[in-house]
Amino acid sequence: FLDGRGALVTGSTSGIGHGIALLLAKAGAKVMLNGFGKPDEIAKARAEVGSLMGVAEAPYSAADLSKPEAVRQMIKDAEAALGTLDILVNNAGIQVVAPIEEFPDDKFDAIIAINMSSNFHAIKAALPGMKARDWGRIINIASAHGLRGSPHKVAYVMAKHAVVGMTKVVAQEVAQTPITVNAICPGFVRTPLAEAQLAPLAKEHGVSEEVALRDYLLEKQPSKRWIEVDEVAQMALYLCGPGSGGVTGTALSIDGGWTSA
Ligand code: NAD
Repeated sequence: FLDGRGALVTGSTSGIGHGIALLLAKAGAKVMLNGFGKPDEIAKARAEVGSLMGVAEAPYSAADLSKPEAVRQMIKDAEAALGTLDILVNNAGIQVVAPIEEFPDDKFDAIIAINMSSNFHAIKAALPGMKARDWGRIINIASAHGLRGSPHKVAYVMAKHAVVGMTKVVAQEVAQTPITVNAICPGFVRTPLAEAQLAPLAKEHGVSEEVALRDYLLEKQPSKRWIEVDEVAQMALYLCGPGSGGVTGTALSIDGGWTSA
């Protein structure tokens, strides 16, 4: 149902973004990838997504989303490479965990720039094209941390709350057009970003990674299991699918019950 649609998924060389890119391509969209990684990993992701699009490799932007000019250029490149940019998934993100008094200033700035400000610059640049073509889907990958706080994640929680707020504002601004704007708020998803938090937790508490996962990382996730990448990708696909046009300005949770508390 996405034949003829063009999609850009930021941070799609890994994790959730990669899973979303695969499902959008499977549904018929032309997808541009973005993100960092080893050259062979990027080539593999491009080939994988490309094969679903019937090409050797999916288009790719190496834009560093901490830089507003690079974000703007990435949108132009996507419009040129895809011919049309109808679906924008703001997914790229990083995490740094430290108490506020020890939180490095440069890491704070980087999280705000990548996890928050890049969404603003990308949406601002992509909206005129969506309006001209009279259809659009903007999906911001926020987090349960866009709705709840946790200690030691000051920059991340600030950025993700802001993304949920921005989603509401832009959705209202375009509510009378066929463009929807939504946030997805996952709990802990099995990806490199989240798995990297496990070993330090196990060390800190002197327990196995299995116990650290259940008792510490997933302390607030009642299901006590990882959310899988494909589950988040299915939610993004739904937001691009038929019948989703009335869903806008929302923060959709997929968090094993976390925000029910
Ligand atoms: P990941 O580390 O697997 O992937 C992050 C992607 O972002 C990679 O492709 C990376 O190269 C890219 N990236 C990082 N910095 C970049 C930059 N400056 N410019 C361009 N690309 C950059 O992480 P993930 O877990 O898949 O996270 C994806 C999104 O989902 C993030 O916004 C994250 O905050 C959010 N999220 C993740 C979880 C989780 O538990 N994994 C939970 C809630 C929300």
